[in-house]
Amino acid sequence: MARIVQKYGGTSVGDVERIRKVAERIKLTRDQGNEVVVVVSARSGVTNELLARAKSLCDEPSDRELDMLLSVGEQETIALTAMALHGMGVDAVSRTGAQAGIFTDKVHTRAKIQAIKSETIEKDLAEGHVVIVAGFQGINEDGQITTFGRGGSDLTAMAMAAAIHADKCEIYTDVDGVYTADPRVVTDARKLSELSYDEMLELASSGTKVMQSRSVEFAKKHNVVFEVRSSFNFNPGTIVKEEVSYMEKVVVRGVSVDKDQAKVIVSNILDKPGTSAKVFRALADANVLVDMIVQNVGRQGIANLTFTVPQGDSQSAVKLLEPVLDEIGGGQIAIHEHVAKLSVVGVGMKTHSGVAATVFQALADNEINIDLISTSEIKISIVIDQDRADEAARVTHAAFELDKIGD
Ligand code: ADP
Ligand code: ASP
Ligand code: MG
Repeated sequence: MARIVQKYGGTSVGDVERIRKVAERIKLTRDQGNEVVVVVSARSGVTNELLARAKSLCDEPSDRELDMLLSVGEQETIALTAMALHGMGVDAVSRTGAQAGIFTDKVHTRAKIQAIKSETIEKDLAEGHVVIVAGFQGINEDGQITTFGRGGSDLTAMAMAAAIHADKCEIYTDVDGVYTADPRVVTDARKLSELSYDEMLELASSGTKVMQSRSVEFAKKHNVVFEVRSSFNFNPGTIVKEEVSYMEKVVVRGVSVDKDQAKVIVSNILDKPGTSAKVFRALADANVLVDMIVQNVGRQGIANLTFTVPQGDSQSAVKLLEPVLDEIGGGQIAIHEHVAKLSVVGVGMKTHSGVAATVFQALADNEINIDLISTSEIKISIVIDQDRADEAARVTHAAFELDKIGD
């Protein structure tokens, strides 16, 4: 007997027919003698629909009410999944995030998990139930419902797997695993059979939607080995863990594109100590995540600062920075939302040179202009025009011959 956590994403539970299919798979796992905890997302499209309704009633809905609303999507699917299992004669019980003992901090819409009190789940398992937990949600010490940011059901799965010391954590989605690039954009992308946490983390945080980046961070910290695989077939997926065997040989493992970026240019500011500190302090205090930062060489005491933020934060960045400009002696702010970030990721980059040159050449050969560049030990990111982003992913994927790797 093993303890297995299975997470089913939005398309996997997209309608009642899909929920029935998922229930059949859960039953199969249960019939093999395993203890099963299942985490489900809202049906695909539901979270977006709820968000749109909120915005149609109020320009800036409060974060508390948003959490109250968005958590509903997952509550529908836990009940329906439990009912589908009951219909098949399987003992199952649904649990909200709060009932599953998932305690978070007080930051609404992007809460962090602080503790998991798994007594209820342990009791459910001991009584022979399959437990169906609502993804994406928790509760804070004031008893308020919180959510974990988009794609947050992945985080619930990792947290559950860590808390109940699961033997296996399976993330079921609508693709066969993690590919060298988004298979919907790069048609010759290859499925990777294994990936290290660090690579998965860099891919996820640079736009590879298949896993939420915070969930991968959590998995790495708590050493949760997980498999990303399809709920639509029985093909083997991608195992994500600390060490993988190819590490030294393969330089680049994947290419990702993030279109949810905006470029903010703060120009004509005084080039003196403390200016950047004030700009970025204001953004940090408001929880705005700043990614790439470039400051040009000051001329005649004047400098320009350029950086990227998630698109949804660009307007609030402007509002936050206007008073800062007054304080630091003037300047202008401009936003460009029509940008995208292309990233190339691989642990092998640590020991190989020429990766950046290959990316730049591939883009140059296709006349794709490079705007901003940033590098880390295992990633190179470049900001480009959004209209060219998919093409950039394809030519970069081809330049590293990623269509020839994988399993
Ligand atoms: P779920 O609803 O199951 O959580 P998501 O929509 O969040 O699923 O993630 C799955 C999608 O991620 C796929 O349909 C695929 O288009 C996209 N994707 C982007 N990059 C990749 C990649 N490198 N490998 C696999 N899928 C990717
Ligand atoms: N339903 C949430 C979302 O759409 C969480 C998830 O699906 O993981 O982002
Ligand atoms: Mg997802």
